Amino acid sequence: MSGYTSERLVGVVVAITVWAVVVALMLGAAVGSFLNVVAYRLPLGLSLLWPGSRCPDCLTPLGATENIPVLGWLLLQGRCKHCQRPIAPRYPLVELLTAGLFALIVLKVGVTVVAAGYMILVALLLALSLIDFDTLELPHELTLPGIYLGLGWQMGVIFGDSPLIGLLEGLLGYGVGVLLLDTIAVLGRIYLWLKVRSGALLSWQPVAALGVLGAGWGLGLFFSPQVPPWAVGLAFYGAVLLSWDTVFILRSFGQKPILEEADELVALGGGDVLLAGLLGSWLGWQGLLVALAVGFLTGTVYGLGARLSQRLGALERFAFGPFLALGGVVSLLWGNILIDNYLGFLGIT
Ligand SMILES: [Zn+2]
Repeated sequence: MSGYTSERLVGVVVAITVWAVVVALMLGAAVGSFLNVVAYRLPLGLSLLWPGSRCPDCLTPLGATENIPVLGWLLLQGRCKHCQRPIAPRYPLVELLTAGLFALIVLKVGVTVVAAGYMILVALLLALSLIDFDTLELPHELTLPGIYLGLGWQMGVIFGDSPLIGLLEGLLGYGVGVLLLDTIAVLGRIYLWLKVRSGALLSWQPVAALGVLGAGWGLGLFFSPQVPPWAVGLAFYGAVLLSWDTVFILRSFGQKPILEEADELVALGGGDVLLAGLLGSWLGWQGLLVALAVGFLTGTVYGLGARLSQRLGALERFAFGPFLALGGVVSLLWGNILIDNYLGFLGIT
């Protein structure tokens, strides 16, 4: 092949890529605009399709140009033309975020059926995150169809397996997700019950010691690759125990040691459990584990930071769904790389 033709080929590929990214950005902005509507109306039990977009305050319908994602908000300078009340910058930000994620997906997997599936999952996760953020609920009206879509996705597209194998992969991922988070929720409940009943019964020092020990092992791993896998397991175990214990200590801070209050100390909501099932059905159990690792890590860091800085009260709940969703997106886009690196790190591949 002459230099001339390969140069032209590169030019064509670049042109197609740019075109695909621009289309993905526009599609993402439009979908993001719809997600804003879903996040606002679904918890209120309003119709998602009718009427069209309106000012949330005075209900004046938006004109055609004002309805354009991001640009409409900029044209209005963030204010309703009719009542002058401000329109939250969250609306254009959600549109921008969706557009950016859709563009990333197209850059990652090209203009393919896989990209379409990824976009559906990302849109679901964004809508659930917004609603959880607003209401501390993950509505079953979204998680249950999301799980069925994930199972259908596994049967149809991924890996080129037979539909039956695909369905089993999806069900396995769903089962692992629900079981794991249910276990964490139940253990968290028991732990809280013991903790509230007798603060001295489970003191934090041994757990902290385990965590430090585990962290030591984990750090040692970076310097000596010969450390066996079980040490990694222990390090992880210690770190998880330490994180959970710290969260529960902070949560039970200042509480009178009486049983009834344990009812309010819910470690994880039922919506979170189903969201993990949704992630498992789409990503399979390996991808789910990546998503959970990222979700718990970021959620714990946020929760601790918010409580230590007193932006959250000791017992105040915060939305965990957005962190699980973030984990899902990371797993979707970079899960295979993370899994390969991790296995290579352990010397398994
Ligand atoms: Zn208005």
